[in-house]
Amino acid sequence: MRSINLAILGGDGIGPEVMDASLKILNKIGELESVDFNYEYALVGGCAIDEFGAPISEGTLKMCKQKDAVLLGAVGGPKWESLPQDQKPEQALLKLRESLGLYSNLRPANVFPALVGASSLREEIVSGVDVMVVRELTGGIYFGTPKGATKDKGWNTMVYERHEVERIAHVAFDLARKRRGKLTSVDKANVLDVSQFWRDIIIEVHKDYPDVELDHMYVDNAAMQLVRSPKQFDVIVTGNMFGDILSDIAAMVTGSLGMLPSASLGSEYALYEPVHGSAPDIAGQNKANPLAMILSVAMMLSYTLDMPRAGDILVEQVSQLLEEGYRTQELYQAGDKLVSTTEMSELLIEKLKSAYKAESPN
Ligand code: NAD
Repeated sequence: MRSINLAILGGDGIGPEVMDASLKILNKIGELESVDFNYEYALVGGCAIDEFGAPISEGTLKMCKQKDAVLLGAVGGPKWESLPQDQKPEQALLKLRESLGLYSNLRPANVFPALVGASSLREEIVSGVDVMVVRELTGGIYFGTPKGATKDKGWNTMVYERHEVERIAHVAFDLARKRRGKLTSVDKANVLDVSQFWRDIIIEVHKDYPDVELDHMYVDNAAMQLVRSPKQFDVIVTGNMFGDILSDIAAMVTGSLGMLPSASLGSEYALYEPVHGSAPDIAGQNKANPLAMILSVAMMLSYTLDMPRAGDILVEQVSQLLEEGYRTQELYQAGDKLVSTTEMSELLIEKLKSAYKAESPN
């Protein structure tokens, strides 16, 4: 039997709750697919600060590097908010990205038909949206030097090296090739030299992907187009800061924060986590929507573990549960069936059992 080893970093607040719900799903998928999932747990974020005085330990980073993939819940909360910036729980995320070389951040924004009404945009604009934002995660203005601030001046440097643009371009073109064959590269080449450099390299890499249609868009226009007409996009590739902003815009086009998964990939390691935070306001109440974490697990199955069929079945069953009207409280509207975190995961397990049975009735 195939054995898959995962690092499990539940984190703080609702992190461990949505993680537990997701691992129950994964255990069932393991049974149905004859795969043995093994978990090694570690503390990250505020709970790690409480336990050993740092948001993540060297031992945890080392453990993550020995696994097939890392699953992360969420970190942070009011208890640790007043700590200095470099000691906050969120430092665990930056350390993980840096240490595991997770240079590409993939955030799909697609609308489940049952949730079209949950978006702040009109139904005909969001219905059928299926965008993948590929954000460069370890370069650009967030990491460039020189940087600093005095009383009278503050500065950062937006810098990209050729290899950084080339590798993220390959990730994006590969994805576009597997999806609808269209890539939009977003930059600010009309003003920034570093953006013209970015654009030139994207055009070079495009030569390896003649089957993918490429276009370029300035970031200000892209922000507007995402809200005006999001269906025009398939895959978007962009730098760290533009990606930070555009992925949030794309995500919110689709509605709830509790539904949005993400993948952070490097050449050797992969980490999957929901987009949402630790939601201290609902932590410990069995109210959190586990679907963002569960959909992150589906991405892991497809992208890292070479189990795309299992990933697709999982997403399809989530969609069906929503069609049947099941909602956790943040999405609940009159007429829906209100369920808790654990109930949502139990219902999904039943759905998975039926789906696999229908595929192989014997
Ligand atoms: P948040 O995402 O935790 O919560 C924002 C709102 O969305 C809250 O009302 C919350 O109840 C709701 N929400 C979020 N996820 C939900 C889910 N799965 N189901 C139902 N409702 C959900 O953002 P915040 O309140 O700004 O931050 C809380 C803490 O989380 C802070 O310490 C912040 O720094 C941290 N944070 C961590 C991450 C991460 O770990 N990747 C990301 C964002 C924020």
